[in-house]
Amino acid sequence: MILFPMSKRKLLTVSVYLAAALLAFFSFFGVIYSAWPELSDSDLPVLTLEGVSDGGSYTGVISVTFSANDATAGIGRVRIRIDDADVYDKAIGAKSWFDGSEIDTSGLREGEHRLTATVTDSSLWRLKREVAVAFTIDRTPPRLSVSSFKTTVLQGDTDGLVISVNEKLSTLKVEALGDSIVCHSLPGAENRFRALFGVSPLAKPAVYKVQCVARDLAGNVTSESVLVTVAAKKFPFEVIHLPKEKQGILHNTAKITEDREIVAAALASAGDVQLWRGTFDRPAPGIDSSPFGIRRVYETGGTASYHQGIDIANKEGTPIAASNAGAVLFAGKLYVPGNTVILDHGQGVVSSYYHMKALGVKKGDVVAKGTVIGWMGTTGLSTGNHCHWQITVGGQCVNPDDWRQFSYETEDE
Ligand SMILES: [Zn+2]
Repeated sequence: MILFPMSKRKLLTVSVYLAAALLAFFSFFGVIYSAWPELSDSDLPVLTLEGVSDGGSYTGVISVTFSANDATAGIGRVRIRIDDADVYDKAIGAKSWFDGSEIDTSGLREGEHRLTATVTDSSLWRLKREVAVAFTIDRTPPRLSVSSFKTTVLQGDTDGLVISVNEKLSTLKVEALGDSIVCHSLPGAENRFRALFGVSPLAKPAVYKVQCVARDLAGNVTSESVLVTVAAKKFPFEVIHLPKEKQGILHNTAKITEDREIVAAALASAGDVQLWRGTFDRPAPGIDSSPFGIRRVYETGGTASYHQGIDIANKEGTPIAASNAGAVLFAGKLYVPGNTVILDHGQGVVSSYYHMKALGVKKGDVVAKGTVIGWMGTTGLSTGNHCHWQITVGGQCVNPDDWRQFSYETEDE
């Protein structure tokens, strides 16, 4: 048997030895392989970068933090570059690692740059993870153009700023007569804003500095101010005689507080979009039985202040119309104002109508200028059939007659 020189038994023995040898060989390398993560690692290290974001704008010192981990072989090296220059380069020997760096950008030209962070693991294969973000160095403060609707405003009237900026802002703050004023975007115009404010009829006549502070995305700040003169307006003094059955109303503080809470909750859903167009109309025909701002005191005591709206008196049931386009924020019964409709005209401008006999709209309705929203009555704290018409700007009661002359719109609208 030339072809089979070994006996069957010998052949079996050789095969067993061969198999054992192979098994030992692979087991040996298997053990080595698994005990030596630098060899077996096939996972990319993980890298997170914070403090600089893609598309971000920066100036001065950027505080960047980075964390990396590689559960198998560990982190070998971390390198951070801006454009082609190293700003951080460290050999690490840990599974996970966290560090930060204050990157001084004063040597960088203004404009676009690229930050690249590279982490290399400790495996034989030197596996790499790279994170790159594009960012802008901006050291130029925003340019502001600020003008006021009026340079002289009467006590109780409205004024505001129109602000144009040459770049995107992170914050825009306006302060007028000690209050911070909300800025709203002008419709259809990028980086143009309107900040309306009401001047209290109790504001001291004087020249006021209205301050505007703009901060761009990189943090550069520009401050501009305009001077506004508040001129005195003569407000008459009025003593109100309440009929016996209504005398208790002003002393029910719990009910008055409840009214205030209901109105505050309704105003919370007022919108940012301008709904009014042009000047405001009187909501009803009739005689002005009490003008805005009149200093008031109730004969029987209670709240003594000024009249916050205009009272228009006419027959019971006279239709009351929306003085401008808006959305119904509230339509219901309140304790002091009686049956009330509150309209949102957007951008902090709100009109209210009190003491109605009946309501013609419900919350959420959108109304055009002139839409009938209710009928005149004498509900709540009222001494006869009339509509108390009130306009507030950023929460400040202002003279509605001013809004019949002036629309506080800009050439953008
Ligand atoms: Zn009134």
